[in-house]
Amino acid sequence: MFDWLVVGAGFAGSVLAERLASQRGEKVLVVDRRSHIGGNAFDWYDEAGILVHRYGPHIFHTNAEAIVTYLSQFTKWYPYEHRVLANVDGRLVPIPINLDTINRLYGLDLTSEEMEQFLAARRENVGEVRTAEDVVVGTVGRELYEKFFRGYTRKQWGVDPSQLSKSVTARVPTRTNRDDRYFADTFQSMPAGGYTRMFQRMLAHPNIKMMLQTDYREVRDVIPHRRLVYTGPIDEFFDFRLGKLPYRSLHFDHVTLDQPQFQPVAVVNYPQTEAFTRVTEYKHMTGQQHPRTSLTYEYPTDDGDPYYPVPRPENEALYKRYEALAAQQTDAVFVGRLATYRYYNMDQVIGQALAAFSRIQRTGARALPIIKGAAG
Ligand code: FAD
Ligand code: UDP
Repeated sequence: MFDWLVVGAGFAGSVLAERLASQRGEKVLVVDRRSHIGGNAFDWYDEAGILVHRYGPHIFHTNAEAIVTYLSQFTKWYPYEHRVLANVDGRLVPIPINLDTINRLYGLDLTSEEMEQFLAARRENVGEVRTAEDVVVGTVGRELYEKFFRGYTRKQWGVDPSQLSKSVTARVPTRTNRDDRYFADTFQSMPAGGYTRMFQRMLAHPNIKMMLQTDYREVRDVIPHRRLVYTGPIDEFFDFRLGKLPYRSLHFDHVTLDQPQFQPVAVVNYPQTEAFTRVTEYKHMTGQQHPRTSLTYEYPTDDGDPYYPVPRPENEALYKRYEALAAQQTDAVFVGRLATYRYYNMDQVIGQALAAFSRIQRTGARALPIIKGAAG
């Protein structure tokens, strides 16, 4: 008899399995329908021997010291600050938009104060900021919105930014200084041996058993367990009985080139004409030395694995109805990006899983239904 069945070996499932096994001495079975651990953060050495991320670029960044301390039990770190260029009007310029972006794009030599005036003259009064369009048009104006955000967002999400919640584009700041880092978090690093190695160490506890290529439905009635951690899509758990929650998917095209470098930074965004949204060259973020280089092109699509919950008011309303069903499940915990239908970064999912574990500890053996609260 297992104390817990954990569905999903991504961050949500692996953190909870590790905590339950190591801190409560409980017996845990982790199942994942994929053939590997790590969920979307899975990385591997491809045929050329280059460390690549199977599901697109994953950069670890957080302001939560407790999360760094937690993960540091399982990995050393390779310091890496993420920098992204956008291919706009045939030029490679920094994104998030900063002072150099404007100066290079328009052939200007503005100071920070002058850039502030430049933007003030262009930004539109959008009233209450509600949509992903409002955020950008209200900060940098329509022309820069069209160049950097409208096309990218339409490709990425399959809808116009005016149809998406403001949280989507609010992830990307605008700066009037020359800081060209993609993230401003206090801690930015990559797991030194890769994500998969880190997951292997998390799951190596003798109380944890793993079954890969195994769907929850195949085991739920045949393998006895007392309680459940579910990190898959919440609508699927309830057999879509209230309707399908939309998820956006991606097709990844992985290629290896016979040259040491392809582009100057790890990620180049393509907000204008191409069908793909971005190209990732992994060696920049892992520091690996290799005579060849491996890249991933991302093509957004509706079909395929569910990668992104789509932040729109009607989807959030449907999720709330599923959340109410989940709250009636007494011995199940729903955690993670898919089970709580939130566009969370890795550190937020880890924070959510650690918060779930604290609640389990506080309430003794009884699990609690939906776990809220994240790192930041
Ligand atoms: P997942 O990693 O999706 O894991 C859920 C697991 O459950 C999956 O392995 C799935 O196979 C399994 N599962 C589902 N249903 C079942 C079932 N019925 N039976 C068995 N198994 C099941 N975050 C960052 O912090 N930085 C980044 O740079 C970053 N980049 C990203 C880039 C892309 C392209 C994507 C898609 C996401 C990115 N993220 C990034 C977000 C990050 O991937 C997530 O926050 C994190 O991986 C979510 O972990 P999770 O455990 O909730 O879900
Ligand atoms: N975005 C954009 N142009 C860019 C970068 C981002 O329009 O060059 C928008 C787009 O809608 C994207 C969102 O901002 O989905 C959040 O960007 P982020 O890089 O955080 O996306 P993720 O890495 O989560 O896919």
